[in-house]
Amino acid sequence: MTEAPDQRSPLRLIADADGPQAFALRDYLTRSEVPFLPIMVPRGAAAAAGIDLTGRRLPLVVLPEGAVLEDPNPEQVAAALGWVKPPAQSTYDLIIYGAGPAGLSAAVYAASEGLSVAVVERDAVGGQAGFSSLIENYLGFPGGISGAELAERARRQALSFGAELIVMRYGIARTFRDHDVRARLADGSEIHARAALCATGVQWRRLGLDGEQGFRGAGIYYGAGISEASACIGQHVYVVGGANSAGQAAMNLAAHAAHVTVVVRGPSLSSTMSAYLLDRLAAQSNVTILVHSRVVAVDGDEHLREITLDQAGRTTRVPATHLFVCIGGAPNTEWAATTDVQLDSRGFLLTGVDLASDDLQKWPLDRSPYYLETSVPGIFAAGDVRANSVKRVASAVGEGAMAVTLIHRYLAEGAQR
Ligand SMILES: Cc1cc2nc3c(=O)[nH]c(=O)nc-3n(C[C@H](O)[C@H](O)[C@H](O)COP(=O)(O)OP(=O)(O)OC[C@H]3O[C@@H](n4cnc5c(N)ncnc54)[C@H](O)[C@@H]3O)c2cc1C
Repeated sequence: MTEAPDQRSPLRLIADADGPQAFALRDYLTRSEVPFLPIMVPRGAAAAAGIDLTGRRLPLVVLPEGAVLEDPNPEQVAAALGWVKPPAQSTYDLIIYGAGPAGLSAAVYAASEGLSVAVVERDAVGGQAGFSSLIENYLGFPGGISGAELAERARRQALSFGAELIVMRYGIARTFRDHDVRARLADGSEIHARAALCATGVQWRRLGLDGEQGFRGAGIYYGAGISEASACIGQHVYVVGGANSAGQAAMNLAAHAAHVTVVVRGPSLSSTMSAYLLDRLAAQSNVTILVHSRVVAVDGDEHLREITLDQAGRTTRVPATHLFVCIGGAPNTEWAATTDVQLDSRGFLLTGVDLASDDLQKWPLDRSPYYLETSVPGIFAAGDVRANSVKRVASAVGEGAMAVTLIHRYLAEGAQR
């Protein structure tokens, strides 16, 4: 997001290099495309860049106009930048949950076709794409484009057509009844819509190791860790995972780190990673790929210091300060448990032809669900959160656009009643 801050005098982030709070802020600002000047101070330093740190709790965020936020969370920074606003209306034609590629695409198409649209996003705009250093296979960008930039362009496009973005708000439809979707947002506000699109994507899986949570943002990073790459200069870093996201992370980190080791559970990367990425990794002299391998333990103090690798049954402890975990995601559908929206066994939203007759026992209409419609009329799903979807930016964007066409059909049915 670039409209609120003054680009000529960037926001400054003054922080301990190792702190997890600082990581959360760096990560949020990077994914939101906010230019900022990071000033890393050694623990206990008294002053940095002319700012008196006496009695201050780090990290500090100094806004372009000079206001100082002490130890803020990303939501407080977003609020200070003027991005967090309550919904402007109480009723919309369409409410979209999630501002990743699928949600943003649906917002562009729906708003450009005259629907009133609210997009509710709990974090930074861009979803998983915001974690991608360089998307090279999205149509129209022969040199690739960073996920954060793609998201920022889409955000501006959606706003230019009149879509409303309600960011840093967790929200999901609570009740669905006859063309009335009621959604309660985390701030307690409630909005109504005639239809809803769930584009809540997936979130990174954890390794599930003892102590892992304590190193989050302090040596363990989920996703490509774009904001952390420059902190890896001269280091030996580890990437866990065998899919494209791990390949991109390794390539991005290899430009900064002394060495990158990719830890892969399976026998090779050829069935899980795109050929173009595999070729690049193979040609990168400071990347090693360890197959038949897993990270089985993590250790350290306030920061990660060591990991244990299991290589085909043989365990080794190695020093490590940066571990990037890219092992896929679990769908953001915990909200569905209290609704009639049906999920598959892994928690992804079932739609259209994937709904079995058992899933449709409460389906009230004569027609079958549309291709992207869930087991509740008027509640649609698009992108990675949908069962059997292709996990790609282009597919998410395509499904977002397709969902809008189906939503028009659904709304027209209501008008005929
Ligand atoms: C590091 C990385 C690199 C990748 N590289 C590529 C690539 O090169 N090419 C490619 O095609 N694909 C790539 N992908 C995959 C691609 O990014 C995803 O397929 C795509 O982002 C899916 O889009 P989506 O909108 O369905 O979901 P997401 O991108 O997951 O977005 C979902 C959004 O919903 C929000 N949300 C979740 N729950 C709620 C809630 N209850 N209320 C409000 N908001 C909520 C989340 O915060 C998130 O912003 C990559 C993914 C990663 C992680």
